[in-house]
Amino acid sequence: MSRVFLISSNTMTEPYPAYPLGMAIVASALSSRGHKVAQFDFLAEAQSHTRLQGAIQKFKPDYVGISLRNIDSADSFTAEKVWALASDREITKTIKANTGAPVVLGGPAFSIMPEEILGYVGADYGIVGAGGVQFSDLIDRLNQGQEAPPISRGNDVSHSNDVSLRPLWNKKLTKYYTKHNGVVGLQTKRGCPHNCVYCTYPYLDGDSYIRKEPGLVADDIEQLTKDHQITSIFFTDSVFNDAEDGYLTIAEEILRRDIKVEWTAFFRPDRIEGRDMELMKRSGLYAVEAGTDAAHDVTLAGLNKSFSFDDVVHFNGTCCDMEIPCVHYIMFGGPGETEKTIREGLDNLTRLKNCVIFGFSGIRILPGAGIHKMAIEEGFVKEGAPLLESIFYFSPEIEPSRMNETIENAFKKERSWIFPPSAGQEMQKVMHRFGFHGPIWHKLVSFKKPRVRY
Ligand code: SF4
Repeated sequence: MSRVFLISSNTMTEPYPAYPLGMAIVASALSSRGHKVAQFDFLAEAQSHTRLQGAIQKFKPDYVGISLRNIDSADSFTAEKVWALASDREITKTIKANTGAPVVLGGPAFSIMPEEILGYVGADYGIVGAGGVQFSDLIDRLNQGQEAPPISRGNDVSHSNDVSLRPLWNKKLTKYYTKHNGVVGLQTKRGCPHNCVYCTYPYLDGDSYIRKEPGLVADDIEQLTKDHQITSIFFTDSVFNDAEDGYLTIAEEILRRDIKVEWTAFFRPDRIEGRDMELMKRSGLYAVEAGTDAAHDVTLAGLNKSFSFDDVVHFNGTCCDMEIPCVHYIMFGGPGETEKTIREGLDNLTRLKNCVIFGFSGIRILPGAGIHKMAIEEGFVKEGAPLLESIFYFSPEIEPSRMNETIENAFKKERSWIFPPSAGQEMQKVMHRFGFHGPIWHKLVSFKKPRVRY
């Protein structure tokens, strides 16, 4: 049995603070193998190195794990300012000054650029992809005096083992995230069968869905509602509405058990039946986050999205018919963007009635994603150039500052269109001061019938 001290290093609170689910899953895997685990959330501990130092000295770990959630904000206006790796490096220095325990990195941000981040942060080992079972295996190996490679990589077995684990929730943390307008996430499946040109997720977490039993998902929800008084959940699946309709079995199970919870998730804005939306609404769906990504068929194709803008309009209409607020995230400046597609795309957005739209400028280039190859071919970045510090892709057919001005002028005419995303964060802070809790973008949508004047 080893003593393992886990740290969630994420301090980003935009668009909302997110419960460190990855750390809870790793804690669950380690505990189930008999290890003694402590969970330390750097955000909830006021980002204090003094508290971190005290906690490590008290716990006396044999191993320390750090979960890295974000490299930066992925928003070209703020990415440089909120670069997270410098803080991860400082956390590692504090750990090393207080214990000789090996430091193991993991989490979604680490998995994108493992070699570079391990070197920059100065840790001993790293785990790519699903971390729970892999971390336990690494400890077994090291405890038996065996050699271990500096970086371990997940496979289908580790993904499927991790997906069925029950997260080890921490009461102090569920209270913290409830109090600070945060979200508590749950995963019903891992992996993604799609192949969007800017994304590395299928490569890291598998290119097909690996599902959790609906009954286990419902057990997790019941535990959160009963033991932690959580009333609202975010399903963090890459895409909630899978083509095989597995998502509907989750909604059915919530209804069958009569669990009182509201929930939201990321949706693919594909054709969806009204009766399916209605079923989800009855089970607690209160808002939909749509990965629309582009505003024009040309740029949708450029991102390798296999739906059209007509599909998006249909999806949005179904949400409106069911009176479920929908937010669309749109990235301008991607492959295929021209002045014409920007103009026509902004016109297209007016077809999306009664919804919220967040506009982004440029696309963060990540190694291994199709857009990285494209950027090299177009001479935008050099092959082998470092990508730890953010570089954003812009179509060679547009001039970014002119594009931003055009978007800003169009977006300021609509109350529920937000550009740049930081404008939404300011609005969110104001609404929280007025007593609104949790993610509040959906409050911008109203389905009340307009008053008729006689
Ligand atoms: S962006 Fe979403 S839908 Fe597209 S490949 Fe990545 S995870 Fe899948």
